[in-house]
Amino acid sequence: MSEVQVTEKKHLNFINGEWTGVELGSFDVINPATGKVIANVPKSGKKETDEAVEAAHTAYQSWSKLASTERSQYIRKVAEIMHANKEELAKIMTLEMGKPLAESRGEVIYAASFLEWYAEEARRVYGRTIPGKSANNRIQVVRQPVGVVAAITPWNFPAAMITRKLGPALAAGCTIVIKPAESTPLTAMKLMEYCEEAGIPNGVVNLLTGNPGEIGEAFMSNPKVRKVTFTGSTAVGKQLIRQSADTVKNISLELGGHAPLIIFEDADIEKAVQGAIASKFRNAGQTCICVNRIYVQSSVYDKFITAFKEAVSRLKVGNGLNDGVDIGPMINKAGYEKVEKHVQDAVSKGAEVVIGGRGEIINENVCYYQPTILKDVSADMVVMNEETFGPVVPIQRFETDEEVIEYANNSPYGLAAYFYTENVTRGTKIMESLDFGIVGWNDALPSTAQAPFGGMKESGIGREGGIEGIEPYLETKYVSLGL
Ligand code: ADP
Repeated sequence: MSEVQVTEKKHLNFINGEWTGVELGSFDVINPATGKVIANVPKSGKKETDEAVEAAHTAYQSWSKLASTERSQYIRKVAEIMHANKEELAKIMTLEMGKPLAESRGEVIYAASFLEWYAEEARRVYGRTIPGKSANNRIQVVRQPVGVVAAITPWNFPAAMITRKLGPALAAGCTIVIKPAESTPLTAMKLMEYCEEAGIPNGVVNLLTGNPGEIGEAFMSNPKVRKVTFTGSTAVGKQLIRQSADTVKNISLELGGHAPLIIFEDADIEKAVQGAIASKFRNAGQTCICVNRIYVQSSVYDKFITAFKEAVSRLKVGNGLNDGVDIGPMINKAGYEKVEKHVQDAVSKGAEVVIGGRGEIINENVCYYQPTILKDVSADMVVMNEETFGPVVPIQRFETDEEVIEYANNSPYGLAAYFYTENVTRGTKIMESLDFGIVGWNDALPSTAQAPFGGMKESGIGREGGIEGIEPYLETKYVSLGL
């Protein structure tokens, strides 16, 4: 039996304005805090993907020609409906992916902010006029929507990772087909209901659930899909780049991270502790920009660890629906096992557990991991080289600025990096030396709708948010006019 009636009847695909897919068979959506089945959603494949793309392609012909102010109104309306239903959406999010309810509420606001921002940006898609090549020539540059967009999204931010793509795509004049993560389709389906309620025309926004490989392959081989936007693992991102070659698709990727946090001797230690807690343990450490490794300058190493341990000891682990819980369950057993492997490897190579260091597998579908600090770690440990995606943080000591920049940049990832120093000269040099797309200087929560989010190196291609975030959904057309 379902724990909650998440939608009236709509645990279904949303294609061309219709709720479909009952006959396709289904897979279970499980609450990671209790292991109970919350819903069953369709197992779609190539046929349904092609139908959704066709619907988006047909709808594109009229949606792309609407005045941007009209598109803007639809987008804003969806944001308003999200605000009006904040509690409902937040609860669904916590039920299907486990984050504490307070964080889910925060995510609803954050997710809606992308729609609000891009409802405004829709009106600012400017072209250019360039001096002609002769007296009888005029040159114009026109920006137009790229076409049908396929969006593949992850489970860790089930609402915001959709709206960060949906907002700019709709604003630019694109239509979209969304494939949410297997663990979190219900938040996505709710968002579709809100789009329906906002009166967005049929086929402009579509969603389907099912086999990721088959749906991904159907997107990538369909010439009508002109843009693929993906947030998820680096391995799948690389595969999508390969698959995009045959039809030369526009592609944006927001992939894994391995964020360093550097604490210099002249940092405000209290602020640094608060930042480390917020960044590391939000969403149980299952965030691509969360702090994954901490470097502390020798002279403040012990002081920082003592204060950090004290703050971590106050964090409460449990079901995200319960009051006062800071850290929910791990999304699944595979996620838990990865965390455990990182901790065991570090301990076997000489790291000391300051706090935590263990978890609990309650059953096949429910695992919790205690917030964990490891100290005296070294560069050869897995935890210092791979994304942990859990509530574990290793701390390494450093002496000089040059040394720590080398440690921080020595990674194939380049998504986010953080540092704390009150010294502006030092901070400016450090900021300029970090090979990361996002740098938080005395700030460990940098995500916001008006700023460009994205990574360097193997952390991705393109940016989401800010004025940059609409660019990937636009083509440039140059018009040469002879008089
Ligand atoms: P994670 O390991 O965090 O779940 P994934 O990259 O596997 O990250 O998942 C992110 C999104 O990519 C999800 O929507 C998932 O269903 C989808 N996905 C997984 N494998 C593929 C694939 N082969 N092709 C297309 N999408 C995929």
